Amino acid sequence: MTFPPARMITAAGLFLFLGALAIPLSAADGHKHDGHDHGHGVSEKKISAALNKLSPKDRELARAQRFCPMMPRTRLGSDGTPQKVLIDGKPVFVCCEDCVPEAKEDGRRTLSAVRKLTRAAATLAKLPPDQRADAETQKFCAVNTNSLLGSMGTPVRMTLKGQTVLLCCRGCVKKAQSRPDATLARVARLRKEAEHGDHHHGDHDHD
Ligand SMILES: [Zn+2]
Ligand SMILES: [Zn+2]
Repeated sequence: MTFPPARMITAAGLFLFLGALAIPLSAADGHKHDGHDHGHGVSEKKISAALNKLSPKDRELARAQRFCPMMPRTRLGSDGTPQKVLIDGKPVFVCCEDCVPEAKEDGRRTLSAVRKLTRAAATLAKLPPDQRADAETQKFCAVNTNSLLGSMGTPVRMTLKGQTVLLCCRGCVKKAQSRPDATLARVARLRKEAEHGDHHHGDHDHD
């Protein structure tokens, strides 16, 4: 008994097709720190203890920056005492030693990421506590998931199927409404990431 050859070709073709799909998908997953844990379920107490090891001036800067520019999903202090890096004479904080060479590699990009982080933290700090908590648990725009909430001004709030959804700007409203299920799925993923302290390199190129 023999297999119909046409069927074998189809099966082989499907395998090749799936293989070709799998490679770019995993490559797009981005850089992660594999060697250490960036703090799953990081507590505010642990963060405060790590930041307290900095000088008062540095602590203030790290608090204003709040997140690592190389790992924008990682809170400074969640991976031990943040590392200070000077770029063009400006002090910048990164989450861990692994991020130091990366921060220096493209100093301009790092400084621009730090400005966005600082601006976003300041914007969110002005929100009423419940709205601030919503923004901190979602952290990124439900349409442009690399766009930090608060980096483009006060986040835009909307309701989709009874759920609160936050967007980085008005420009994202139509896209969020046109595919409500996809938008809500992204919100769920973002909340889970924020909760577990997952982090990837994000391209913060929304403007
Ligand atoms: Zn790091
Ligand atoms: Zn937007």
